[in-house]
Amino acid sequence: SSETLSSTTDVKNLVHPYTNLGDHLNKGPMIIDRGEGIYIYDNHGKRYLEGMSGLWCTSLGFSEERLVNAAIAQFKKLPYYHLFNSRSNTPAIELSAKLLEIAPKNLSKILYANSGSEANDAAVKLVWFYHNAIGKPEKKKIISRLRGYHGVTVASGSLTGLPANHLHFDLPIDRILHTDCPSYYHGAESGESEEAFTQRLINNLEQLILKEGPETVGAFIAEPVMGAGGVIVPPEGYFEGVQKVLKKYDILFIVDEVICGFGRTGMMFGCDTFNLQPDIMSVAKALSSSYLPISATMISQAIYDKIAEQSDEVGVFAHGVTYSGHPICAAVALETIKIYQEDNIVAHVQEVAPHFQKRLHALASHPLVGESRGIGLIGAIELTQDKASKKPFDSSVKIEKRVQENVAKHGVLVRGIRNAIALCPPLIITIEQIDELFDSLEKGLDEVLEDIEK
Ligand code: PLP
Repeated sequence: SSETLSSTTDVKNLVHPYTNLGDHLNKGPMIIDRGEGIYIYDNHGKRYLEGMSGLWCTSLGFSEERLVNAAIAQFKKLPYYHLFNSRSNTPAIELSAKLLEIAPKNLSKILYANSGSEANDAAVKLVWFYHNAIGKPEKKKIISRLRGYHGVTVASGSLTGLPANHLHFDLPIDRILHTDCPSYYHGAESGESEEAFTQRLINNLEQLILKEGPETVGAFIAEPVMGAGGVIVPPEGYFEGVQKVLKKYDILFIVDEVICGFGRTGMMFGCDTFNLQPDIMSVAKALSSSYLPISATMISQAIYDKIAEQSDEVGVFAHGVTYSGHPICAAVALETIKIYQEDNIVAHVQEVAPHFQKRLHALASHPLVGESRGIGLIGAIELTQDKASKKPFDSSVKIEKRVQENVAKHGVLVRGIRNAIALCPPLIITIEQIDELFDSLEKGLDEVLEDIEK
């Protein structure tokens, strides 16, 4: 059949990102055929509620006609133009005004790219360029966090604090350092209060800066809520303490809003939810509801001014890619933000998130669940063999994969990551659909529990 043929061709031709390629060779792909609202259908016609918005990204679901129409209109008018050498295009210009209208107030300039990785890569280069420009060329180290995820380019993959992204790639590059992950569940010492844990992490950050020499540390990067590291919501007071340390040593703050941006945490940006004052902010994914690839690195006027001066000396600002500010991608992103505003997506998230969080937190009493955590419409459950000791399952049990597969049988896609199950549904999800998601998740968990107890 044509299905078997395309499966065979896939296995024959493709290198799949983040895939156990050995397993893939045996089992073949799950082929997604079409989407409707928050649901997708595979090539056998089976329907799934997309509990992960693809890769934490399709905030408006899979069939928003307005985005399709915005793309088609721009396609017909001007399918491509670039922003190099002072050229511009109207969608890129209009999108920049829209983005700055909603972004944290001290951000005032925008550099476009195609992916979150590139946006963070640009952030690294901007930090380096800026410190050269202000006569502090030694201030180049960037501190990231263990379990943080910032992408896969050589620089952004170095920022990422997950072992698999470094192993076999000879990363991180030097100048990129990692400090603690703010997960109380994983990182607390025995008997340590959450407050003491938070203070210890802030002290550790300061100690790292002092050890390296504050004159060598240029920036700190963080996701407001860590996504791919397991959905880690920072404890109370964490970012307040971190920002004080950064200010004290004159260190720039890069906020990676690639997942948190555009309503995910219950405010327009994670910066709003956690009161963050970024010097640089990266966005991607929900910027266009991921209908087309586009990302942006937003910077403060102070950084921009220095970079503009320096580029005058060199002759140009020598960074950017062929598709920076691509007009069709920009037109779709512009329409996406208009929808967020017109439909008041933030108000919708605030309305349905309490139910999402209630169902999520109810799972904490399940025998397989050590912790449930989340904010807004993002969350995770941590799977454990033993609630008291928090002992994870042996990796040979493949616990998160088993849960993921059982839940999929019940028509819901969730993502297993490192002993945890992540949830990040489209922001347009309704209360009834939230129940559908959690009902299937519970069924899947119960089946795996039964299976393990046998
Ligand atoms: N930053 C965060 C917080 C992400 O979650 C991701 C991707 O998941 C990235 C950066 C990298 O984005 P991309 O995959 O578009 O390069």
